Amino acid sequence: MLGLQAFRSLPTPARLWWLSVVLLSVALVPACLSQGEVGLPIGVLVLAALLNAGVVVATKPRHRQASFVVSFDYGGIATVAMLAAFGPQAALCTFVGEKVARALTPEVSGRRPAWVRAVYNLAWGCPCILFSWWTRGLAPDVRLEPAVIAIAWWLSNGVLVGTMVALAGRRSPREALRVAVVEEGWLRLQEGALSVLAVVAWWTHPLLLIVVVLLVTGHAMTGRRLFGEYERSAAASEQALAERRRAEVEAEQARLDPLTRLANRRAYQEAVDEQPAPAAALVMDLDHFKRVNDTFGHDVGDRVLVEVAGVLRRTLEPIALCSRLGGEEFCALIAQCPDDEELFRIADYVRRAVSDLRFEGYPTLQPTASVGAARRLAHELTVHNAVSRADQALYAAKREGRNRTIIAPKATPLPRAS
Ligand code: GH3
Ligand code: MG
Ligand code: MG
Repeated sequence: MLGLQAFRSLPTPARLWWLSVVLLSVALVPACLSQGEVGLPIGVLVLAALLNAGVVVATKPRHRQASFVVSFDYGGIATVAMLAAFGPQAALCTFVGEKVARALTPEVSGRRPAWVRAVYNLAWGCPCILFSWWTRGLAPDVRLEPAVIAIAWWLSNGVLVGTMVALAGRRSPREALRVAVVEEGWLRLQEGALSVLAVVAWWTHPLLLIVVVLLVTGHAMTGRRLFGEYERSAAASEQALAERRRAEVEAEQARLDPLTRLANRRAYQEAVDEQPAPAAALVMDLDHFKRVNDTFGHDVGDRVLVEVAGVLRRTLEPIALCSRLGGEEFCALIAQCPDDEELFRIADYVRRAVSDLRFEGYPTLQPTASVGAARRLAHELTVHNAVSRADQALYAAKREGRNRTIIAPKATPLPRAS
């Protein structure tokens, strides 16, 4: 119900104006069609025009902006002029021509001065005059039904304004259609009502055209305002989307270790608290890493850390969240692991992969790692305890000479509280 939202977002006088135009058109059409004389219709139309002009004036200060104050609907005027001089076919063609022209050259309607746009619209009217003369000459008795013209006007404007929006904002055709039909639905209805009025006026009495000019002008101003509001809200939502994306990227960055691009301690902490909890924890610490730094330099030490992170990523990423807890200590929270044998197989595979790392230009640099791992017990809701058991196993591996994998012995489950 975006159309309803757009309607509600209008200032109250504009809403009243819209409602009265619709009600008046509905009431007027049968009266005008049957009467064919100056009478009741002209009175009601004058009233509508005055109301319209009043609304335009009353709502102007709320939306004061340069383009609105100077804007005048040359397209509308040209259309009505065509209607007065050459009939509905010419009016329809002028109207469609103007929209096509705008769709093809959005910069003409956006950036050029108003008089350029006027000339542009009128230039589009010329082929329409010729077309109108031609069709009248061919079949003088054929007249389009007002309803047909109104519907054609309504549809063509919807589709063409949508195209214009799509071209100007590089939106997809689907989005353009949505704008044309849903967001601008009220505008289309207004135009439908106005076009019926215009055609009826053309058939009823030439004087009514003056009133129609007023109506179309007022309508165009409200329409431009609605269109502008849509454009502004679209720009605002695009900006909001861009900001949200930026915030997401920043949040993502805040969860990554800048050196290794693995998850950092913060992301790890969140995962540790998560439920359902991972099945096992693996903790790995590089052996004598201080010596690596002292012997080869800090930069080479950094390269080792990046390569070790690569090992974790290649071997464990699909089944585990791998993180750098700090320094040369890493942790992997493994999602599924059926038993300790499987856990040992995985953990030792990682350890061996680290000890297989070689660095070009540094043949004596052969890093090794100690690994401790533990499975979560069935009654434990988080992986916290498994991590501390894995830590203890890691210290045991260090004590026992490093470059080895130890699986924490099964902890005795806590007795159940009865
Ligand atoms: P152990 O086998 O007992 O773990 O000995 P170790 O030398 O690996 O352990 P220790 O904790 O004494 O030293 C860790 C070293 O890791 C000290 C520090 O300079 C180094 N380190 C920590 N963070 C970084 C880093 O980001 N880059 C580099 N190059 N070195 C780091
Ligand atoms: Mg170490
Ligand atoms: Mg350490």
